Amino acid sequence: MLSLWRKIRRTGRVAEPPPPLPEGERPERAALLGGSVQIRHVDAGSCNGCEIEIGSAFGPVHDGERYGARLVASPRHADALLVTGVVTRNMAEPLRRTFDAVPAPKLVVAVGDCARNCGVFAGAYGVAGAVRDVVPVDVEIHGCPPRPEAIVEGLRKLTGR
Ligand code: SF4
Repeated sequence: MLSLWRKIRRTGRVAEPPPPLPEGERPERAALLGGSVQIRHVDAGSCNGCEIEIGSAFGPVHDGERYGARLVASPRHADALLVTGVVTRNMAEPLRRTFDAVPAPKLVVAVGDCARNCGVFAGAYGVAGAVRDVVPVDVEIHGCPPRPEAIVEGLRKLTGR
């Protein structure tokens, strides 16, 4: 048991080295949160591809938490929403209500092309619109699905770390 503990201590934390700070302005309201942002994820109508990449962004290789971003279980504990997928008609109102439940100053990150501009689902009968058509968006992350590196970069724009 002691040897295992020594090995863990010797090994330390294993993760990819941090890339340089992403370019682009940090949203003004994000600065009010300091370097730590609590995030509630909302799937507004995703195919689940973006969720897999979000899982990877918070996994041991990319370790999004080391930049101060942390997923939480309730919008009432959150500073920001991480929204994936096109907004379906059934999810438009729940998304609005989730946004209302986040205490100010609240931020919204649209993850993936569906969230940004409806992507491959544009014009489909069940689609209410992109995320910005329902709630205000502060940061957009491109890609279908976005790479975990891009998701971490978008989150670093919120935390400033
Ligand atoms: S952006 Fe691509 S991966 Fe993400 S929800 Fe849309 S279709 Fe799926």
